[in-house]
This record gives sequence, structure tokens and C-alpha cells, in this order.
Amino acid sequence: MTKVLIATDKPFAAVAVQGIREIMEAAGFELALLEKYTEKAQLLDAVKDVDAIIIRSDIIDAEVLEAAKNLKIVVRAGAGYDNVDLDAATAHNVCVMNTPGQNANAVAELVFGMLVYSIRNHFNGTSGTELLTKKLGILAYGNVGRNVARIAKGFGMKVYAYDAFCPAAIIENDGVKALGSTEELFEKCQVVSLHIPATPETKNSINFDLMSKMPKGATIVNTARKEVVDEAGLVKMFEERPDFVYLTDIKPSNDAELAEKYGARYFGTPKKMGAQTAEANINAGIAAAKQIVEFIANGVRKYQVNK
Ligand code: NAD
Repeated sequence: MTKVLIATDKPFAAVAVQGIREIMEAAGFELALLEKYTEKAQLLDAVKDVDAIIIRSDIIDAEVLEAAKNLKIVVRAGAGYDNVDLDAATAHNVCVMNTPGQNANAVAELVFGMLVYSIRNHFNGTSGTELLTKKLGILAYGNVGRNVARIAKGFGMKVYAYDAFCPAAIIENDGVKALGSTEELFEKCQVVSLHIPATPETKNSINFDLMSKMPKGATIVNTARKEVVDEAGLVKMFEERPDFVYLTDIKPSNDAELAEKYGARYFGTPKKMGAQTAEANINAGIAAAKQIVEFIANGVRKYQVNK
């Protein structure tokens, strides 16, 4: 019998697990659950006899893949899959998928939650500013970027975007101005929202040279990955630009130092919570379960990321 493991150190909402269970039972698959594990040994033990694994931010490296002798597919319930060693998966003939778009609205709403909190001075009762007519630059027009654009228009912002791979015509079709480069986006926009994946090309790509191009009142919102921002450059930006504000869902390694030194100009969510909504959990968990059934039953590889 096909055995599917949900391995989540940060568990799904119970209703999402129930939904996954129903899909697996209907397919005639067995479901195992490993939640809130604290040691890698627990994961290594749990994967020994499984055909498929559903994960969230859990690390699937060469050692895990080596231990999982029957494994055929890993589905990351979420968008970013930098927690999976894709080369090792390919070497073990394991298909890796993500569930694109399922948590995008949750992340996009958090962008505006953090922005409003910041421009209203952390709700401390003093006079703040507004988003209306401010220029918002969206770096990467993928699933999250598109949702950010939709919401930004509701706030009456002027919305710009740059994506290295998405054609300008698609961006402009949404009533968003497509710019020609990352540099142009940073030069033009007072608020920049990051939605690039963490890849060898994007790691540390948001550096001081780029950030310092931003106009007065520069605010960067990072709900993407901490690795895309150069931490030394971030500190330099805080030091040299008293107007600079950085809001992030993924704390940099020097989080405590930034919070202490730069006060309200820096805000990091206590834990990564972009995708932490019941809706996103359910959407991504159910999508992962359906993708596994389609893959095992019919060989469908639509969302494979280690091609
Ligand atoms: P997506 O795959 O739908 O979109 C990514 C976009 O980035 C694509 O349009 C791609 O063309 C573009 N891109 C890739 N490299 C680029 C580059 N060098 N310059 C410009 N554009 C580039 O992903 P998504 O669902 O929009 O998510 C975006 C990222 O947000 C994820 O990779 C993940 O790291 C992060 N994320 C974080 C949370 C959270 O909890 N905070 C949740 C979901 C996603």
C-alpha cells in the first residue's frame, strides 16, 4: 500500500490534516503523521518506508533522501522550496513539487499589515502617514507579487513591478507599470516589496548599492527570504539613511541588534507567519495531497521543480 507521511515540525492546522487524510483514504493510501519533531533522527526514522512526503519548511537533505528508500515524491506545501536539496532528490530519482499560489494571498495581506503598522507608528497614538498615492515597487511578479498588486490598487498606491522572467505585457495587463530592471524599481519607488525566490542569483542581491538608490522615505518589506538581503548592506543602509525602514517576515541573523539600535525603523514578525492562516494551510495541504495522488496514480508531474 502506498504510504504518505506528513512531516511538519510546525504542524498544519488540524482541519488541513483532516482534509489530507480524507484524500489519502479515498485514494486507498495510508497516512502517517510526524509533527513537532525535535530531532532529525525522528525524521530519518519516519521516512524509512514511505512513498511520499508532505512537508512545510522542513529540511529534506541528502541524508533524509538516503534514508527514504521507497520515496518517490516530496511535496513542499508552500511556494519556496529552498529547504529541499533538489540535486540530491534528482540523484535519488525523487520528484519534488511545490504548491504554487496556495498561500499567496496570505503573504500579500501580511505585507499590508506590516506596512500599515509601520506608517501608523506601531499604533502608538502619534500621527502617521498614508499609503495613498505612494509608489510601490513589486520585485518579482509571481503569485505573491500579483496579490500584492491587487491589494495595493485598493489602497490607491501607484504600482510598479519588475520580474526577470514574466513578460511586461502580463504585468501591464493588470494595470501595473512594468519596469526594465531591479535598479529602476528601487530608484523609482519609496516602498519596495520583495517576492523573489532564494536562488544562487538572488542571494544577497538586495545590497547597499541597490537599496541606497531608493528615494526619501525608503521602506523595504521582505516576505520572501532573509538570504536575498545582504545583511552588512542592510546595517549600512540603516546607518547612512535615517529615513530607512525595514519590515520583514524572515528575521535576519542580527535581528536583536537591529531592533535595539534602530527601534521603530525595524520590524520583524516574532516568527515567520506569511503563510500562517487557516486558509493558506488548508489550500496548500490539500493541494499537496491531490498532487501526490495524481502523481502516484497517473504520473502527473505538473508542479515538479527538479526538472
Ligand atoms: P512564484 O514562484 O509564484 O513567483 C516567483 C517569481 O519570481 C516568478 O515570477 C519569477 O519569474 C520571479 N523571479 C525569479 N528570479 C527572479 C529574479 N532574479 N529577479 C526578478 N524576478 C525573479 O513564488 P511566490 O508564491 O510569489 O513566492 C515568492 C517567494 O516568497 C517564494 O520563493 C518564497 O521564498 C517566499 N514565500 C514566503 C512565504 C512566507 O511565509 N513569508 C510564503 C510564501 C512564499
